[in-house]
Order: sequence, then C-alpha cells, then structure tokens
Amino acid sequence: MKISLIVLLFLILPGCNIHDNTKTMNNPPIANAGEDFVGFIGDEITLDGSLSTGEANLTYNWSLISTPQGSSFSLKNANSAISTFIPDLIGEYSFRLTVSDGGLASSKDFIYVDITNPPTVTVAKWHDNMDSAISFDWDDSNLTHCSVIAPLFDKYDLKATFGVITDTWLECYQTLSSNGHEIASHSKSHKVNFGFYDVTNDEKRNELEASLKFLTQEKLIKPTLFIHPWNSIDLNNILYDEYYLFSRIHNLYDTEENYQANIISSHGLEFFIDLANKNNGWLKIAGHSVDGEGWQPIKSSDLEDFLAYLIKQNIWVDTHSHIALYQMARTHITANIKNGKIVLNDELIDYELLRSYGVTDLPLTFIIDSIEPIKISGYLTCNDYPYSGEGLMFDYNIMSQAELVYESCAN
Ligand SMILES: [Zn+2]
Repeated sequence: MKISLIVLLFLILPGCNIHDNTKTMNNPPIANAGEDFVGFIGDEITLDGSLSTGEANLTYNWSLISTPQGSSFSLKNANSAISTFIPDLIGEYSFRLTVSDGGLASSKDFIYVDITNPPTVTVAKWHDNMDSAISFDWDDSNLTHCSVIAPLFDKYDLKATFGVITDTWLECYQTLSSNGHEIASHSKSHKVNFGFYDVTNDEKRNELEASLKFLTQEKLIKPTLFIHPWNSIDLNNILYDEYYLFSRIHNLYDTEENYQANIISSHGLEFFIDLANKNNGWLKIAGHSVDGEGWQPIKSSDLEDFLAYLIKQNIWVDTHSHIALYQMARTHITANIKNGKIVLNDELIDYELLRSYGVTDLPLTFIIDSIEPIKISGYLTCNDYPYSGEGLMFDYNIMSQAELVYESCAN
C-alpha cells in the first residue's frame, strides 16, 4: 500500500482546521486499497477497498495502472468497494483506488498484486509422507492373535490385520475390530484350496460367501479383504472380487512396488526392512502366530523387537486394507489449488463401489509444494458419497496446520 500525497499532506497538517474559519468543512475521505499481496494465476483476484473511510457516502473507482506486458483482462465492478479480476499472466499488477464523498476532496491509494503460479499439490507416496509401508496379516484364527499379538500391536499403537477362519471364530476378534485392527476373511473352513483344479466353483463360492455372510450379518463386521487359504489362488478363475475388494495374493492394486514375505524366524529384521524400502514399496508380511502355536510361529519377543524398531522408522505400519486403499487413492486422485482451496480431482474413485465393499474411510496425505512444504494427512470419512467433480474442498487458510482430519464434505 502506498499512501497518496493528498493523504500525507492531510496527516502532517492536522492542526490547520483549528484556525480554519469554515467550521462546517468535513474531513476528506481516505482511500484504502488494502495491503499488497500475492495471488495465483487463473484465480479470481479480489481488490478490497472497503476499509476506506469518509464522513459521507463514498464512491469508488478502481483503475489499472500497470500489468505484465501483453496482459489483457477487465476489472469487474470497478465502481464498487470490491472489484475483481482474473489475471492471465504471471507478474506484477498495480491498481489505483480513488474514493470521493461527493465534495471536492478525493483520495487515492495504490495496491500491488504479485501473480505467481499456485503451489503444486501431490498425493504423498505413503500416508503421513512415510518412505514405505508394512502391513501384518495374522492368519488362521489362532488364540495368540488375541492373547499376545494384538496387545503387542496395541502397546506400540500399531494396527494389524487378522485373517479369520469363520468356522473357528473367536469372540475376542470383536474387541480387536473395535480397537481398529482389521478383520479379514480367511475363508469359512480353510479346507478348500482355490488353486486345485478339481475344486468346483460352488465350493469356492461357499467359502467366500459363507464367511462374508457370517462376518457381516452375525458379527456386524464388513470385511474388505479375503486371504486365500495357503495363499493359493486360481489365476484363471478369480472369484474373490465378487465378494471382497482386495485379496492378498492377487490384487487390482498390485504393482512392482508391492512385496510379500512370510514372517519366519530364520529371516532377520534387515531382510524385511530392506524389502519394504525397495522402491519405497509396500511389504505385506504374512504370519500365523507366536510362541509355539500354529503354523510357523515366531517368538513374541522377536515380534516385539520388530515393532519397537519399526515405530522409530519412517515406515507406515497399518492394516492391509488401509494401505491398499491408500495405494488406490494415490494412483486415482490428483489435486490442485484453485481460488484458495485444495480441490480433489477424484472422478476415478468409485465411492459407491467402495462403500458396497465395506470401505468407510480412505487415508490420504497431500504434500503442498510451497516455500515450506506442507503436509496434510487425514482420512476421508464422508458419509454422503459419492462426491465427485469439484470434489472435496479444503480451506487453503488452514494448510499451515501440519495435520488435518477431514470431517465433513463440501456440498
Ligand atoms: Zn491359513
């Protein structure tokens, strides 16, 4: 803001009126074009002269003083306190505001607007801008899932996935689910090998459908993940996706950044960490149990050492489906900044479909590449799916906060 000469003269000669004979003379109006600011190309830019003061009704006149060479646009509402324009070129724009109270006195003020490209917004590689991701699946409805493994994950505030054989359902899985762990279907009986050629489709469907029905209707848990018994799947005859969104071994979201490993004690910690960090990828660890129970149990003390180590790394540990959903979101959602908002371009996400598969929240982390890169992490927990087109809009003003939880959707 530059104070015009008339205003300056007025300010430095405040005592004149005392000896003035014309006692009814008003104070002249003072134009205030606002503080200089930075705006983004393509946005509608607002010039606000409403802080101008005067003793009578003011009239306003905005006029263009200078623009980048070649720029062409018109000022909207140039005779109002608030005027707008859409800049077409990057560079400095200057404007003059003149206000008048109808008398002889008028006042001018100037404003400079620097138009730049908006910061870019990208979806981070992994949630919370972590370098890589690890999920833990614990299969086969083993007792140590509830007695040892889940409490260990709770101790480090981490979430795991439990592959449940619904014929041998354990009541304690209800508590695990309430605590944010994932309950996945590991089939009804574990007796049907989907990879065997002589297994009929009816047998497969019964395993997929009966376990889904049990979890959904009797336990009110809607699973998104199916874990094939023995990790065995017939690639020519994939049936799981008629019932479940994801399967561990064969996924729509499978890419070269995904790795799988069985957690068996002969593998050292470095083996798993190296796998996860390969291509900043996602390591899907499959285990069964601890301390002598079930198939290939590991020592719970080794698991604890692992978890204690992981929480100090820049590795995202979460449920299998959360990481799969994040990977889907990253490859299907882009965002940009428009008129001061982050706008999601999420037309490729079929929220209706996700909901039908039991998805209730979608983890998402944006990185805003400004002078100081800003991270925004949260879960889309909107109830009124589908949102599309302009999508969700987040207030640019709150981007300075490091963390943001999205709680509502723009309508
Ligand atoms: Zn199994």
